[in-house]
Amino acid sequence: MDGESSSLGIIDFEDLSWSWLVGDLAISAAYMMLGQEDPVRVLTSMAKGYHAVSSIPEKELPALWPLAKLRLCVSITMAAKERTLDPGNEYISVSTGPGLDLLRRAQRISGDEVLGRLRKACGFSATSIQMGGAGAKERSDGREELSRRRRESLGPNLSLSYRTPLHIVRGAGRYLFESGGRALLDGVNNVPHVGHSHPKVVDAVALQMRLLNTNTRYLNEAPLAFAEDLASTLPDPLSVVFLVNSGSEANELALRLARAHTEGSDWVVLDAAYHGNTGALVDLSPYKFGGKGGPGKPSHVEVATLPDRYRGEWGYDDPDAGAKFAADLDRCLQTISSRGGKAAGFLAEAIPGCGGQVVLPPGYLESAYKKARAAGAVCIADEVQVGFGRVGTHFWAFETQGVIPDIVTMGKPIGNGHPLGAVVTTPAIAASFDSGMEYFNTFGGNPVACAAGNAVLAIIQEEGLQENALRTGKVLLDGLQELAEKHALLGDVRGLGLFLGAVCIRDSETKEPAVNSADRVLYGCLSRGLSFKTTMGSVITLTPPLTVTVEEIDRAIAILDEVITTVGREGETDVG
Ligand code: PMP
Repeated sequence: MDGESSSLGIIDFEDLSWSWLVGDLAISAAYMMLGQEDPVRVLTSMAKGYHAVSSIPEKELPALWPLAKLRLCVSITMAAKERTLDPGNEYISVSTGPGLDLLRRAQRISGDEVLGRLRKACGFSATSIQMGGAGAKERSDGREELSRRRRESLGPNLSLSYRTPLHIVRGAGRYLFESGGRALLDGVNNVPHVGHSHPKVVDAVALQMRLLNTNTRYLNEAPLAFAEDLASTLPDPLSVVFLVNSGSEANELALRLARAHTEGSDWVVLDAAYHGNTGALVDLSPYKFGGKGGPGKPSHVEVATLPDRYRGEWGYDDPDAGAKFAADLDRCLQTISSRGGKAAGFLAEAIPGCGGQVVLPPGYLESAYKKARAAGAVCIADEVQVGFGRVGTHFWAFETQGVIPDIVTMGKPIGNGHPLGAVVTTPAIAASFDSGMEYFNTFGGNPVACAAGNAVLAIIQEEGLQENALRTGKVLLDGLQELAEKHALLGDVRGLGLFLGAVCIRDSETKEPAVNSADRVLYGCLSRGLSFKTTMGSVITLTPPLTVTVEEIDRAIAILDEVITTVGREGETDVG
């Protein structure tokens, strides 16, 4: 190294790696697609141009669209981090807004469809080894195989939605993703209350799982914090919380509490109700014991008329409909006492779900509770479906009726899908239950389940989800009402917040249910990327996660409008 003119050359191989050819293309396409009306067209023309000069291996093509989306995720995340270090530098996040917009839109674009267009642009045959036409066949065979294994291994009557069952592999926010990558707007799942796979719930559960998960015989902060926060959402004197594993288990325990407190063993329930899958609860569920394969009404149960102002004896125009429907409890309670029985409880949802989102008339529960209590029974509100802010105006659906139950049961949304349920009652009822026999529940209220529950309560608050249910629920209800004005197929539109139903009818005079048309609306919407369910065969039921946006609701209404237009034109014919 003596030379004045000597120079040293350094070749940096650190970034050199053997990787996929489409990586570079995906990165450039990610930015070229920003702000474009048809981003897939941009992607396909870039792929076509690239392929003409440097051929893209066929097996790499399926990675192009996912890699481009991944690039945007990385770009947006890095920009967010770098902005914290250099907040004044706006250039760092120039791609963030359009990138997020593109990612949101991309959620609704089928991966299969993109691949099909890419294959066409590059001159590959329409079918491929993994995807495209042959892939679709493979997937449908795959679905049949999964269905067969399910029937054999999980029992032949385990409930399965849709005639062509969906093979769902992933969920995010309000979207479900099928195995082929197709996104479905989820209009029905009320379990992922704060959205599918909410990162805060996922993190809370994972963290607690690493720290401790044990049975409930130890002192631990997690169930206490959860029970106290949960009780704080309820009016006095509802302050004692029992944590369980499901909605059925919550109702089952509620039955024990009621029996212990009243020494009764007879029940009054609403017609069409469903309260859970245990033996005792099937007995209390007219939807089950009175439905297909059901054994009929047990002798210790009386069924009160469903206060349905659309088809029932008293209509929406009757201000006293609540008290008039509630008078049927007199009949039920009288029947119990005349056979020498004693009522333990009146169990009801504040918006009967299996009845088809029937909104109880004002004053109904007040009057019914008065009658039940006068007969020595306790009043149980089943909030498994309708609780946790879903009704929008209130956190609990019973509050819309201005009553305070003796026992409240919860499940479904409480852990956003993690198994958890709760029973909340008064100190007096809890004391009656404390008969000397110890109560133990191995999993109920374990630290991991409580971490999920705590996260859900926090997210509802932080993200203002009850307020969102009120706001977006109104947009959805208004949209459904407009559809009902336009289409003769729709009769009553009802519900509260994001717990809504639209009844399909053959005729506005007879109000006869249009089951086949409802079915065709269901499948028509499903094929256009919107999923929901029908209740009682003819009620279109919409209960999306509480994070749903106005834009998504507008889209759902547009899809419903398009499908109902076609179905309505065809009339109520048999499903082919
Ligand atoms: N109560 C009501 C009102 C329900 O809708 C259900 C479930 N659909 C249950 C109780 C039972 O809950 P799970 O299936 O979690 O046991």
